[in-house]
Amino acid sequence: MRVTVGHLYPDYLNIYADRGNMAVLSWRAARRGHELDVRAISLGDPLVPGEHDLLYVGGGQDREQALIAPDLAARSDEIHAALDGGAALLAVCGGYQLLGRFYRDRAGADLPGAGIFPLETVAGERRMIGDMLLECELEPGERHTLAGFENHAGRTLLDEGAEPLGRVVHGFGNDGRSGHEGCRLGRAVGTYLHGPLLPRNPWFADWILAQALAHRLGEPPELEPLPDELERRAHELAAARARQRGGRD
Ligand code: GLN
Repeated sequence: MRVTVGHLYPDYLNIYADRGNMAVLSWRAARRGHELDVRAISLGDPLVPGEHDLLYVGGGQDREQALIAPDLAARSDEIHAALDGGAALLAVCGGYQLLGRFYRDRAGADLPGAGIFPLETVAGERRMIGDMLLECELEPGERHTLAGFENHAGRTLLDEGAEPLGRVVHGFGNDGRSGHEGCRLGRAVGTYLHGPLLPRNPWFADWILAQALAHRLGEPPELEPLPDELERRAHELAAARARQRGGRD
């Protein structure tokens, strides 16, 4: 099956090699006989709801975010329509912030958000940097850990009742206080985890891939397991660094 990915602003939002996430997804799809067709959507390019099985937005600092924020915010209806039609979405850090209602930068200026995730973000004084570890339960009864690297000044506040991606075991997460990291809305996930994220967390890469395939199949398919020995070692290394960092905050 061909899995079509709309990669938003790869020319602006690609800090910490977030593009590596796409490489991992392509490889894991190919091992299951699927082909990942990654199409760039940059400033002014059309985003036609239904055309993509997965939308992906990487991370970027305030400067890059300011360059793309109005264009992304103007796509709110199309992104809502794509998700309503069953597409999956993954957004990292700067992209995650701009899929909320707004991001208020260090100078107090508001960048408009696309209003997809029920949250808002305000930059603080101290940057939140380091390896982090989360505990997630995206499917009832299936607990996993996610390891990655965070580096953000933004404090993200989820609306009452919004579902985080996971619980912070080590690190800061959304705001350094709530114990929450990221946001999950059906098949859409936003997170502060770079890493890049997917190479170190093969279970999560497969979850995203299955959500993208569900856009075609109606249901997320069971993906046949891969050996993942190196991936598990990468996860363990990152998790060990996060543990050395100690408790939250
Ligand atoms: N500019 C944002 C912040 O510092 C996002 C940073 C990032 O994408 N790493 O909060």
